[in-house]
Amino acid sequence: MRPDRLNPLFVSADSLKGVGPGLARPLERLGLTRVRDFLYHLPDRFVERRAVTDLDQASVGENIVVALTPIEYRSSAGRGPFRVLATDAPGNVCAITYFGRNAGWAKKSLPLGETRWIAGRLDQFGQMLQVVHPDHVSEESAVALGQLVEPVYALCEGLTQGRLTALIQQALVGIDDLPEWIEPGLFDRMKWPSWRDALDLVHKGEHREARDRLAYDELLANSLALLLVKTANRARRGTPLAGDGRLRARVNLPFALTGAQRRSIAEIEADIAQEAPMLRLLQGDVGSGKTVVALESMLIAVEAGAQAALLAPTEILARQHFETLTRMAQGTGIEIALLTGRDKGRAREATLMGLHDGSIPIVVGTHAIFQDAVQYRNLALVVIDEQHRFGVGQRLMLAQKGKRTPHCLAMTATPIPRTLTLAQYGEMDVSKLDEMPPGRQPIDTRVVAIERMADVIASLSRHLGTGQQAYWVCPMVRELESEDLAAAEARFAELKEHFGQDVVLVHGQLRPEIKDAAMERFAAGGAKLLVATTVIEVGVDVPNATLMVIEQAERFGLAQLHQLRGRVGRGSAASTCLLLRSNALSETAKRRLALMRETQDGFRIAEEDLELRGGGELLGTRQSGETAFRVASLEQIQKLLPLAHDDARLLIERDGGLTGERGEAARLLLYLFERDWGVQLLRGG
Ligand code: ADP
Ligand code: MG
Repeated sequence: MRPDRLNPLFVSADSLKGVGPGLARPLERLGLTRVRDFLYHLPDRFVERRAVTDLDQASVGENIVVALTPIEYRSSAGRGPFRVLATDAPGNVCAITYFGRNAGWAKKSLPLGETRWIAGRLDQFGQMLQVVHPDHVSEESAVALGQLVEPVYALCEGLTQGRLTALIQQALVGIDDLPEWIEPGLFDRMKWPSWRDALDLVHKGEHREARDRLAYDELLANSLALLLVKTANRARRGTPLAGDGRLRARVNLPFALTGAQRRSIAEIEADIAQEAPMLRLLQGDVGSGKTVVALESMLIAVEAGAQAALLAPTEILARQHFETLTRMAQGTGIEIALLTGRDKGRAREATLMGLHDGSIPIVVGTHAIFQDAVQYRNLALVVIDEQHRFGVGQRLMLAQKGKRTPHCLAMTATPIPRTLTLAQYGEMDVSKLDEMPPGRQPIDTRVVAIERMADVIASLSRHLGTGQQAYWVCPMVRELESEDLAAAEARFAELKEHFGQDVVLVHGQLRPEIKDAAMERFAAGGAKLLVATTVIEVGVDVPNATLMVIEQAERFGLAQLHQLRGRVGRGSAASTCLLLRSNALSETAKRRLALMRETQDGFRIAEEDLELRGGGELLGTRQSGETAFRVASLEQIQKLLPLAHDDARLLIERDGGLTGERGEAARLLLYLFERDWGVQLLRGG
């Protein structure tokens, strides 16, 4: 139960004046559904303007505030702009220019002969100075001069800066400060503002301390929650699992395990032999062979007389795992069942029965395997695949069925830098598959300018002509969702013109059945080209797909690019990855793409990417879904996470129940950042 004093923060967005059904939708797309979300929608940057009285003092390109007096209206023919000629105090002439059908509005806000304060960017048009679509036009000097610094927020269709700024300001009203949860020594040393002051400051101007403070809050909440999971887990009892090797000996593998696989299996085996439930992360690049490790681990559990479950994030992945595992485990004679939300009727009943009486020792499925209707006789190990989004904690809670806590193995292919491992997985123990199975073909990666689209389509056509398949990936970030979606649809239409019915489209807005059907058609070879937004990231395994085109590659996180690229190069044929880039790339962006060309080592990519971007260029270029954080930037994570982590540990050592004064404050923090599953663990014991 969320503490009452946080209620004002969690009131829904439509309680704000002016938010009706029309505005609610774009707001929702930006993730702004409650008052709290507005407070934490931080500016990407600020426009800074200089007040001038004489346009001669300003330079072209500068953002200024100036008093101008309109002297003449000039419409142009056809679709040309409407201009208002105006003079400053010394008599310099400047045009205020409006495109589109804005003449009526312009005349009304800029009556001839009356001085108005204009805020905008000074440009030049031929010999004449001009301001195109001023940001503000005001009668009051105080209003104009009060807007010398203005936040620029991430927007989406249906919202304007002015509108969003006003809503954020409205949201801030009536929010009281909360008790301080930051350790007093650190708080003083950093010269941070209080939580409430920080919220005001970050929306007013560049204020490093305020921004750091809010980022720190988020990191602290995260560290605390993860530590609580870890602590609660330690207090629980699992089933010690000692296998005798009889099933593992009958697994039929066409290859020898890599050293890294053997090491990881040994680490897992040692963990689950203990009574304390295992909480281990298996980190291994795409293709590094995590599935075998999962199988061997589950077989140990079965040898010890217990049951094991493998949780996959999607229906398709669950099916693929089911097929692979069944094939590999054929010689063992044990039954592996598949259970997803789609299974109904008799087959489902039989599976439920088998899990209940223990005759089915291994189940593979989606989250359906943790529904209440599913009873296990003695589930002792849960393997979670592709756990690359934050959510380990939540999943763990799901796994807390029965008196004994199952051992948990989370597998991720996302190569994340060490600092971020800590942020996302807290103090989980980590096994790394840092050695690829032998014989992997390198993926020929090339960076291609978008102008060469015709060439790209030509080589795609040749490629499909040989009977091989391909992926075409379009970017999709939440801030630009509708635009991105439109772009993906347009690309799909274009590719369909070239390749007809051989093309299928998959994106997050499609209904799951439609998405699955398209994926399945592609996986079965019926479709030759899969156009997709990043949903294929954790998707299919189609060895015949050997070409991947990624559009606007510079907009992806490198870890994401790396993971996408890992979808090809799965069969024996040589594979290619084309990274299409836009024209205007920053130096950093160029180097990031070059790094992709250079190496296929996910761990190296993750570390170097963090380094490349750590030095700035962060605001506004953050990739969605890259970290679990909305407030903290990568730079802040690197700088502040170790502090937050130590602080959290100290707090829990001193006040594990979070019942002291600071503990209570920290509880508020957990709710504020919706890591309240951490608090629930405290209660549940
Ligand atoms: P991941 O899940 O880590 O992306 P998979 O488990 O799907 O990787 O393995 C990728 C491919 O490599 C599979 O075809 C698998 O059979 C093969 N593989 C796994 N381990 C080895 C190994 N030690 N030697 C050769 N091939 C392997
Ligand atoms: Mg896998």
